[in-house]
Formats: sequence, structure tokens, C-alpha cells
Amino acid sequence: MKKLFAANWKMHKTTFEARQTAAELAGLVSGKLKADREVMILPTFTALAPVAEALRGAASFLVGAQNFYPQKQGAFTGEISPGMLLDVGASFALTGHSERRHVLGETDAMVGLKTAFGLESGLGIILCVGEKLEERKADELESVLERQIRAGLRDVAVDVDPQRLVLAYEPVWAIGTGLVAGAKEILEAHAFVRRMLVEIFGLSASQMRILYGGSVKPDNASEIIALDNVDGVLVGGASLKADEFSRIVLA
Ligand code: PEP
Repeated sequence: MKKLFAANWKMHKTTFEARQTAAELAGLVSGKLKADREVMILPTFTALAPVAEALRGAASFLVGAQNFYPQKQGAFTGEISPGMLLDVGASFALTGHSERRHVLGETDAMVGLKTAFGLESGLGIILCVGEKLEERKADELESVLERQIRAGLRDVAVDVDPQRLVLAYEPVWAIGTGLVAGAKEILEAHAFVRRMLVEIFGLSASQMRILYGGSVKPDNASEIIALDNVDGVLVGGASLKADEFSRIVLA
């Protein structure tokens, strides 16, 4: 199972900047990336094709999208379908990112619809889950993760290809705040996510990757990556500069 280093660029970068950063990153890690690692860039919709083009021929690089709508096509003004993402070179997409849940009002049910539809359409999915600070303080970590995981995976086939389903544990209080979850907190949450995956998918759950996300930086990446049940990282702020992200990927 390859460790996955995913760069969530959120709503940043013009097509020119995205192409330039992707090419610079590929150059920085070329020939140095460990064989058991792969890198994914998730730019805005408008930069998907330029980034895919800039990464053409770069070994171990993937392109992902940050969002999509769970329909093939139709009267859904402003939305984009999984088929359209595949068409421009994306092979993965996020679902359930905390900014979509808590800023844009996406429900557990919608996250579930998207996850199943994306997988059925041929995309790989990174399903993000994580608790808010007040939920952690109220001792609700496991109940929140369980609710989000069960709803997110409700309609996913039990024989789904484990390489195409990735979970990301992202405590909301650690996203973009500079606060990183401690080793103990990450270990506990990831062990819980793994147990849930085993309960739902059985043996193939051991081949599903669980990423950590929340203020990952070059100086904490190697420690986080070495933890049990941590199969990669999902990085926001520190993925925007090629040099900074390359130090995470090569950590
Ligand atoms: C994210 O957006 O998924 C994220 C983890 O952001 P940051 O690394 O900036 O905390």
C-alpha cells in the first residue's frame, strides 16, 4: 500500500500559477520520491486540465478534484459531474471535507450520495471525517466519526476496490489553524476509523488508506507519517508552495 501525500489547494491559484507550481513540485521530487509513496494534487476545477497536463509523464503523481455533484448530467446549474472530472484527467475526488460540511452546509446524507456515486462513476474517493472542538470536548469523538463514516459509506459496495477508497481523519479544530493533533489523538482516531472500516468491509479494510489532515507542515510530517494506521497526509496551507510541500512529500 503506497502512502498518499495529497495537496488540497482549495480556492487558490490561477491556471498559470497552478501549472507552474505542479511542474516545480514534480521537478523537486523527481528521482527522490520513495517507491512506496505517491503524490496527488487537488486544484480548483479550472486548473484540473492544466495541472494534469503539467504532470503528464511524472511518475507517481495523480490529480484529484475537490468536489462534484452526484449526477451524470442534467439541469444542475453550476455543478460538475464525475465523468467531467475524469475527462480532464482527475482520477480522485474529495467528499465530506469540513469546509463543505461546515461552511457550505453539506449534510451527511449528501456526502454519502457523493461518495457512492463517485466510486460507481470510476473516481477514487477521499472521504473526509472529523470532529469539531466542542464535540471533542464533549467526548463525542467516536460518535461523530461513527456517524460520518456510516453515512458517508452507506451506499458503497462492500466489494469496492480498496485502493480507490481513502478515508481522511481531519479534526476540524486542526484545519488551517496551526494546531496539530498530538500523536495520541491521531493514533486513537485512526485506530477507530480502521475498526469501523473492518466492520463494514472486512478483510479489504486493511488495504484502505487512512490519511491525517490538519496543519501538517515540513517539520511535523515525518513524525505523523510514521504513526500506526497513518497511510498518508492531506495538506492544505502547506501544499500551496512547491518547495514547502516537497519537504513534506520527501520527509
Ligand atoms: C485541509 O484543507 O484538508 C487541511 C488539512 O488544511 P491545512 O493543512 O491548512 O490544515
